[in-house]
Amino acid sequence: MSNNGKGLRIVLTGAPGCGKGTQARLLKQRIGVPHLSTGEMLRAEAQTGSQLGSEIKALIDKGNLVPDEMIITMLGKRIDEPDCTNGFILDGFPRTLPQAEALDKMLKEKGIKLDAVIEIQVPDEIIMERILGRYACMKCGQGYHDKYQQPKVYGVCDNCGGTEFYRRIDDNRATVQNRLVNYRALTYPTIPYFEKEGLLRCVDGTGSIEAVAKKIDDLLGVD
Ligand code: AMP
Repeated sequence: MSNNGKGLRIVLTGAPGCGKGTQARLLKQRIGVPHLSTGEMLRAEAQTGSQLGSEIKALIDKGNLVPDEMIITMLGKRIDEPDCTNGFILDGFPRTLPQAEALDKMLKEKGIKLDAVIEIQVPDEIIMERILGRYACMKCGQGYHDKYQQPKVYGVCDNCGGTEFYRRIDDNRATVQNRLVNYRALTYPTIPYFEKEGLLRCVDGTGSIEAVAKKIDDLLGVD
């Protein structure tokens, strides 16, 4: 595997709230390949207010997955874009076995392969606390947490100076419980699938953001 990050094709996986989005954003800065979050793509579509957007929003708000076919087409188009030629970090995809198989097929057709699938492991009790306390800057998306990561100046984003923040509608207890049920039933089966392919690497996601990032760098051989 490359040790300067060039050309890396990585999947970050794990339960909701395990930190894949946070780690993907940081890893992107270190290895310079795009961060593809299917959740963010879907939230952007939901915000357009289109018919499709309202259907997506209803599924996300309840903690249910959107249909495989739709997400596979969406992701397929995205990785065909030129900025993905030198690699990408997938966050939130694949989330089911059919999605994992479709990804394999897409990459095979392009003659490329994944370098690693990193599972960030965090126990359910910690996940609930993390998700229920998290919020983000409206302007730049920088993440914060009521207990673990408040902005240095109250109400002002450290990153961009923004003063408006939001919480995801699906970050409530009932929806998170459903997201965890769906994770176990639908997403977890992709873990042995990737293990069989020899791609799976596991990281303990309970430490600080920096400590988890360091473990990911070590696994990938990124300096
Ligand atoms: P995330 O931002 O990754 O937590 O995703 C938020 C929500 O978007 C999920 O709870 C699902 O409703 C939907 N979603 C994101 N990625 C996928 C996917 N690969 N397959 C199906 N639904 C997805």
